[in-house]
Amino acid sequence: MQIEKHVRVAIAGSGFGGLGMAIRLMQSGIDDILVFERSNDVGGVWRDNTYPGCACDVESHLYSFSFARNPEWTRSFSPSAEIHGYLRACAERFGVLPRIRFDHEIRSATWDDDAQRWRLETKHGVYTADAFVAAVGGLSEPAIPPLPGLESFTGTTFHSARWNHDHDLAGKRVAVIGTGASAIQFVPEIQPKVSALKIFQRTPPWIVPRRDRALTERERRTLRRSNVAQWLLRTRIYALREVMALPFFDARIAKLGQRIAEKHLERSVRDSTLRAKLTPKYTMGCKRILLSDDYYPALAKPNVDVVTDSIVEIRPNGVVTSDGALHEVDTIIFGTGFHVQDYPFAKRVQGRGGRRLADTWKDRMTAHLGTTVSGYPNLFFLQGPNTALGHTSVITMLESQIEHVVNALRYLAKERLATVEPRLEAQNAFVADVDAKTRGTVWTSGGCKSWYLDAHGTNSTLWPGFTFTFKRRVERFDPSEYVLMPRSSRVSNPKRPDESPRTAPVASCASGPEVAHG
Ligand SMILES: Cc1cc2nc3c(=O)[nH]c(=O)nc-3n(C[C@H](O)[C@H](O)[C@H](O)COP(=O)(O)OP(=O)(O)OC[C@H]3O[C@@H](n4cnc5c(N)ncnc54)[C@H](O)[C@@H]3O)c2cc1C
Repeated sequence: MQIEKHVRVAIAGSGFGGLGMAIRLMQSGIDDILVFERSNDVGGVWRDNTYPGCACDVESHLYSFSFARNPEWTRSFSPSAEIHGYLRACAERFGVLPRIRFDHEIRSATWDDDAQRWRLETKHGVYTADAFVAAVGGLSEPAIPPLPGLESFTGTTFHSARWNHDHDLAGKRVAVIGTGASAIQFVPEIQPKVSALKIFQRTPPWIVPRRDRALTERERRTLRRSNVAQWLLRTRIYALREVMALPFFDARIAKLGQRIAEKHLERSVRDSTLRAKLTPKYTMGCKRILLSDDYYPALAKPNVDVVTDSIVEIRPNGVVTSDGALHEVDTIIFGTGFHVQDYPFAKRVQGRGGRRLADTWKDRMTAHLGTTVSGYPNLFFLQGPNTALGHTSVITMLESQIEHVVNALRYLAKERLATVEPRLEAQNAFVADVDAKTRGTVWTSGGCKSWYLDAHGTNSTLWPGFTFTFKRRVERFDPSEYVLMPRSSRVSNPKRPDESPRTAPVASCASGPEVAHG
């Protein structure tokens, strides 16, 4: 098949990760890049999640790029559309748009060991790249549970991440399945419109006050005029948020947090039966801690019923629970989260020897520093295994990973090397460290089941620490942790616009297949 184009770096995805990666590469002088986006716009989750009430739950002044601070945020926790607008503006301001191929879903990514490059298949043809950055997001594939009889339902169903704006909820009897981060945002918005709202809750979340508020013109003016004020505000939020990691590591601190959440529930819900249903029986932090001021009050309204019996089947006209009750509804909305543990993109990636990443990750998803995987040269993940967070902005993690990728690619260019992949020992040591840090935390001992842990109870999603420790560990590229290979003699020396022709590989590489640099 004809190759459409060869680039030095291909990036899949144009959310915070893909855009941030493209911007930092270009700023570092690596501009032979292409971004492949399956949709027709940038923005990732902020393009896709348009449900009523959708907003970030980390303050906007931290939930944004550190290199593109935005004094114009209108609220402390900005709505989805505003974050989407911010990402569009960043793509434009930093000149990324011409490098994005929209409607170019990467269908497969295959490492060609002879050519030492990635072969990327899209519906518009095949592209090749020296390095491939998968910034496809950790929460981009909505998950709908396989409920028996779901296909027989005659009403309307949709997932919160694919909100059906054409479906008017006014006067409808609506079932909401799930009580996670999205549901607690859209439930208060739809409750006043619908005739009856049944909330199907498996496990109640711990919820603390959010204290969202509009930012005044005066505040915005101060920030507009002063970079120092912007920096101070961001730093203050950052520090307070890092403190919020403490409950994960110390059950006594978690108990203090629980008291705040219990008070919040008491103040919001007078009915003791409802309060009992909404009180979690696990330690705070074991599942994601949620922020809301209006979720509890919405649940206390007369048209709302919180159902705690488990769902056994869906019938054409409603939802049947384990107590035998049929809850008749016209609409089912799934607030059931995303495919996290099965990372669907792994099925599309084949590394050295044609090994599918989904097979490599069959028992557990692991990556060195959450970013690179042994057996998959020149492949970098943003938001890979063990990079999710329970307490602060994921952008801080993404930026550390992005710097790591830039530093790795710079190193390759400087040393005139062709490929980089982590040593298996280094990767295993990192994973062992993650496991050691996870032991004894609230995630494993808090008495809950969460998407943080896989089927074996192993933490393959969360970074079990502060973000500054991740940054310290990840930003820097330590060559001794990697297998670094020179350009193979089988490669017909592809021309790179920003490099002079290659000469011999570094001296220490010449003799053996694996070279450690330190
Ligand atoms: C509703 C919601 C609220 C959230 N709120 C917060 C918050 O307050 N704080 C926080 O820290 N985190 C939050 N998150 C987590 C969020 O996932 C990250 O903060 C961040 O936006 C992830 O950016 P990303 O670029 O890695 O992934 P995404 O935003 O998911 O972007 C991935 C992109 O890759 C594209 N893509 C996927 N597969 C392919 C393919 N095969 N080929 C080409 N393109 C592809 C997608 O279309 C998408 O544009 C939230 C998530 C959701 C869903």
